[in-house]
Amino acid sequence: MYLMKDITREGNPCLETPCEPVKLPISSEDLNVLKGLLEYVVDSSIDDLVKKYGIRPGVGIAAPQVGVTKRMFAINFEDFLNNNKRYCMAVINPVITWRSKEMTYLPGGEGCLSVDRPTDGLITPRNYKISYKCYVYDFRTNTCKQKSGTLEGYPAIVFQHEYDHLDGILFTSKMYKDLDCEPLYTFEEE
Ligand code: ZN
Repeated sequence: MYLMKDITREGNPCLETPCEPVKLPISSEDLNVLKGLLEYVVDSSIDDLVKKYGIRPGVGIAAPQVGVTKRMFAINFEDFLNNNKRYCMAVINPVITWRSKEMTYLPGGEGCLSVDRPTDGLITPRNYKISYKCYVYDFRTNTCKQKSGTLEGYPAIVFQHEYDHLDGILFTSKMYKDLDCEPLYTFEEE
């Protein structure tokens, strides 16, 4: 399994390199990487394992973050703004096929397993809604299937953050103090 020592950090060339498409059918080598990525995001959502392995919780991780510049990433989270709908996917060769004109941002700013410095309060613009197509790998059935869909709000933001990694883009290259669009949500006042 991947641990913090395996994760590439800001400044590493892997994080600035546009990634190559994954050759299909996927090789066992690439599949091992993808499995490791999925395990990381699943394990890091479990408090006991976070403590046991000293890993940082992450809702997404992309292959270049473990030093592999190929177009694949894994996500695992619940959409807390939408009935806690779960998104757990091992994604291969994604393409964002459409982006809404409407923009949004995470009000507290984004975070990244590859970024250790504090960036709180700096916000990153994202399209509010996107359509995508990709392949997803199902490790229970060992099948690779085409998938397409539309994401909006939090899932769209996570998908775009991971997708940017595949193009060699870190969120730290697009952080702002203010943006001329609505935040994804506002903090409730006590
Ligand atoms: Zn990241």
